[in-house]
Amino acid sequence: MARNKTAFLYSSKEPTKEQFERIKETIAKRYKIKELKFVFDENIKNGFKLEVDNKLFDWTVEGRLHQLTSKLDLLDSSKKSVMPLMRKVVDDFKLHAVSEEIGTVDSIRDGIAFITGLKSAEYDEILVFDSGVKGLVQDLREDKIGCILFDRDEFVSAGDKAVRTGFIAGMPVGENFIGRVIDSLGNPVDGLGEIEPEQYLPIEKRAPGIIDRQPVNTPLETGILAIDSMFPIGRGQRELIIGDRQTGKTAIALDTIINQKGKDVICIYVSICQKASTVASLVNKLKAFGAMDYTIVINCPASDAAPLEFIAPYAGCTLGEYFMSQGKDVLIVYDDLSKHAVAYRTISLLLGRTPGREAFPGDIFYIHSRLLERSAHLSDELGGGSMTALPIVETQAGDVSAYIPTNVISITDGQIFLESSLFFSGQRPAVNVGISVSRIGGDAQTKAMKKASGTLKLDLAQYREMAAFTQFSGDLDDASKEKLEYGKRLMHILRQKQFSPIPRHRQVIILTTALGGRLKNTADKDIDTYLEAVCCAVEEEAENICSSIDEVGAYSPEIKEEILRIADKTEI
Ligand code: ATP
Ligand code: MG
Repeated sequence: MARNKTAFLYSSKEPTKEQFERIKETIAKRYKIKELKFVFDENIKNGFKLEVDNKLFDWTVEGRLHQLTSKLDLLDSSKKSVMPLMRKVVDDFKLHAVSEEIGTVDSIRDGIAFITGLKSAEYDEILVFDSGVKGLVQDLREDKIGCILFDRDEFVSAGDKAVRTGFIAGMPVGENFIGRVIDSLGNPVDGLGEIEPEQYLPIEKRAPGIIDRQPVNTPLETGILAIDSMFPIGRGQRELIIGDRQTGKTAIALDTIINQKGKDVICIYVSICQKASTVASLVNKLKAFGAMDYTIVINCPASDAAPLEFIAPYAGCTLGEYFMSQGKDVLIVYDDLSKHAVAYRTISLLLGRTPGREAFPGDIFYIHSRLLERSAHLSDELGGGSMTALPIVETQAGDVSAYIPTNVISITDGQIFLESSLFFSGQRPAVNVGISVSRIGGDAQTKAMKKASGTLKLDLAQYREMAAFTQFSGDLDDASKEKLEYGKRLMHILRQKQFSPIPRHRQVIILTTALGGRLKNTADKDIDTYLEAVCCAVEEEAENICSSIDEVGAYSPEIKEEILRIADKTEI
């Protein structure tokens, strides 16, 4: 390429002929150049820059000062004892030219730029273009590299320069992000001003290994009876919420966040490719319930470029990891990973990768497994923090065997399956008890919930089976009728309004009363009133029982007896 053979000298002062010849001679010793051209650049106040063979040498005073300050910045952010190290950096600092590799934009379309000349760029490295737009290296080939842009592509055009930064894509993190709405690069989008970060961490990180983890053994309660009783979620677990569109997936995640109030859990909600209005009303709801005090919302609306949508969950995960590494408990919701997969498919197809099943690229499994594996319950040596993930996946017509659902089901530790037919029949949350599962949650359930929920799952399975068999037969014996009625009542207690999480002791009281057969003679329309009355009566008469259930999850035959005794004498 002829361009590479011409060297350019940028400065605001033209060198003397003698200086010019000397520079040319020096370059010619190391590089084969055709000629050296002087380019006037008024931005360079002192010194000069030299571009030769895809490298930019910075001999400006500003460039050297920048070198020094960036070293100091790095020290500051790692929060080491700053003073001695800073002195060392200043002592060791030598003024030398920084060479930067520069490439040229070969072609650009749909947010993807192909660049030639950057031979040593790394995967996931940030590049900066002439206009200041940043991009992420996502494709490395022999002759060129593919880079996804974080801004609109009209700011970059063919022939522009692209410079390596040497930085892997990162995310600013810190306490100040709590209560804020940000985009996937960490910029505030809530109009509440700048956020002062404490650190800058890479968005891609290896998941903690086996030694770094400990078993999931503490519950993370959702406040939703159907989930806490049968599919309990533990801190550090990954539980998938899966279902068709408009079946209450987001509602479950939102209720879980609201239920964490006062429980010392930091919540992160990553919204991928949703309507801005949906996210705005979600943030308002969180504010109304006081949940924004401990929540961060990462909003990547449908209008954002596919690359920003692609990195949003990793950015959220990095924020979560920051808090987890401080020994805190974190809950992160990815809403939703189907759209994330679609964003990655778009990028991959534009990068010219071979499409596979459903046109997704071959590494689609890996993008989700490396994300979800980062959720963990860290060992005590690492502070004992945890990150619980609630990924959401949308299905088409209930088809859980499609590509993305099966992938994510196999990565997570269980799934809560929401069914549209249940949703439309009024059974909300529309949890399908038959195919939902929590693979490790049982260990993380309190004794009270485990004992109180007893045979609930089994009873519901029997009810479903019987209901399916008997739906066409009018004549039933008394025993079957009784069982059906009992099952119906169990289904009834699992109905719960949105934004009304039930505290642990109330869940135990409801389960004990229902499974103890105390709803037998209550009319369908009176069940809610009756249960409310029982809960209030127990709270009043046996406050110690409620507090011991809430605090230590205590449950015993005596507690059960007492609850049933109060239930028996409660009237409405
Ligand atoms: P989408 O596929 O559009 O993301 P979704 O599956 O996330 O939808 P939601 O937005 O959570 O579904 O809920 C859909 C509608 O159902 C909302 O209007 C919500 O208020 C309502 N809804 C959800 N859960 C309940 C519930 N337990 N009781 C009553 N209404 C509910
Ligand atoms: Mg939703």
